[in-house]
Amino acid sequence: MSGVVGIISGKDCKENLFYATDYHSHLGTSFGGLAISDGRSTAKKIHSIARVQFKSRFAEDIDFINMHGNAGIGVISDRDTQPLIMRLKFGEYAICGAGYIDNQDELAKKLIDEGIVFSEMPNGKVNQIELAAKLINKGKTLVDGIEYMHRHIDGSMSLLLLGKEGVYAARDKYGRTPLVLAERNGDKIVVSETCSYKNLSFETKKYLGPGEIVFLSSKETKQLRKPNDILQLCTFLFVYAGFPASEYEGKNVEEFREISGRIIAKHDSVEVDFVAGIADSGTAYAHGYSHESGVPVKIPLLKYTPGWARSYVPPAQETRDLIALMKQITADVLIKGQRMVITEDSIVRGTQLKNFLLVKLWNSGAREVHVRPACPALMFPCKFLYSTRQLDELFARRIIKQFHGKHIENVEPYLDLDSPDYRKMINAMEKDLNVTSLRYQRLEDMMTTTGLPAESLCTYCWTGKTVR
Ligand code: SF4
Repeated sequence: MSGVVGIISGKDCKENLFYATDYHSHLGTSFGGLAISDGRSTAKKIHSIARVQFKSRFAEDIDFINMHGNAGIGVISDRDTQPLIMRLKFGEYAICGAGYIDNQDELAKKLIDEGIVFSEMPNGKVNQIELAAKLINKGKTLVDGIEYMHRHIDGSMSLLLLGKEGVYAARDKYGRTPLVLAERNGDKIVVSETCSYKNLSFETKKYLGPGEIVFLSSKETKQLRKPNDILQLCTFLFVYAGFPASEYEGKNVEEFREISGRIIAKHDSVEVDFVAGIADSGTAYAHGYSHESGVPVKIPLLKYTPGWARSYVPPAQETRDLIALMKQITADVLIKGQRMVITEDSIVRGTQLKNFLLVKLWNSGAREVHVRPACPALMFPCKFLYSTRQLDELFARRIIKQFHGKHIENVEPYLDLDSPDYRKMINAMEKDLNVTSLRYQRLEDMMTTTGLPAESLCTYCWTGKTVR
């Protein structure tokens, strides 16, 4: 998903930029990058964070230690190396972003055919930040260029640009990824995750609207482009990707998860000995379930956190599987002979749940395992963020493919909870996962729990429907 930070400070911004960027580490495991401007020149540093955490990489980096200035941007990136320093026709900017350009190949080809050169092409793919910058460069002004970029990309892209004059923050045209402005005694910070500035004593000032562009400097905060009317915030931020202390459009993630767990319990009638969440995101759902039902919470799966990345993010399946296998350790005495509800944020591929977590529970002597994901079955690969890309990666689609011998286009019957096809799919899933029962959260319940208007939420990965 990636997360970004931009900062303007009355003093050297380095330390605050470092911590605020680090607080986005749950959003990516590929690269961490920082750029700092002293008003005359901009220095940047990028590190791979695939195996070594952002903090460790930068804390002892002599180049970073020597970077000083009052304005900076930082990024935790799930795919591209960033920030990039690009000389546009409007000036020189360090640029970073959060999003995904689904039509990147087509756009890159068009630009290359026009004679535009791309410097960064790892694995034959353009760097999306470079692509975004080259599209921006086609505008008459910086703002016009950002609008041009938004008009031409399929997907989403929220960007920060650091120039000599200050920081430009431009939220994606439908606001799928957040950008939030906060202040502290004249200092300004703009971030993806509000949790990133809470310990730095900044206070939230404004959630940028979809497509909104603001300029930040020590002298002013200026709106350069008004927000669009249509918001399509990524609902998966609440379900899984966001950090629990964060707020999106003013709504807290942990509260969403706790209430979701209550709703799951309200619709549930199984008799169990305890409820357990798969850490980390599943835990709050388990607490909500317990508060509603009176079923006690236990922790039969203990997560050994130090040194392990989130298993959703690393691109290689073997890496994800290894992480899933090694991270969770069973407390066998809590499991043997017990009936349990397991709350989970979602089932994406299903392979880790099936091959590692459930096997561990059964091997430890579980009597019944009832799985309760906090969102509906994922049916469509996300095309707005760096996430699942193929139908075959999605558990629900693989099950449906078994019925038809191929992937089908119209999955409507499998979205209708009252249809025989939906029941057939759930039965096949229960068998495939080897669980006593499986029940997904309802789409309407998930959306209502966000506390935001339904029309302001992106639910494409569950419904296949979107505003573009
Ligand atoms: S498709 Fe799903 S993961 Fe992608 S932006 Fe929409 S809600 Fe988020």
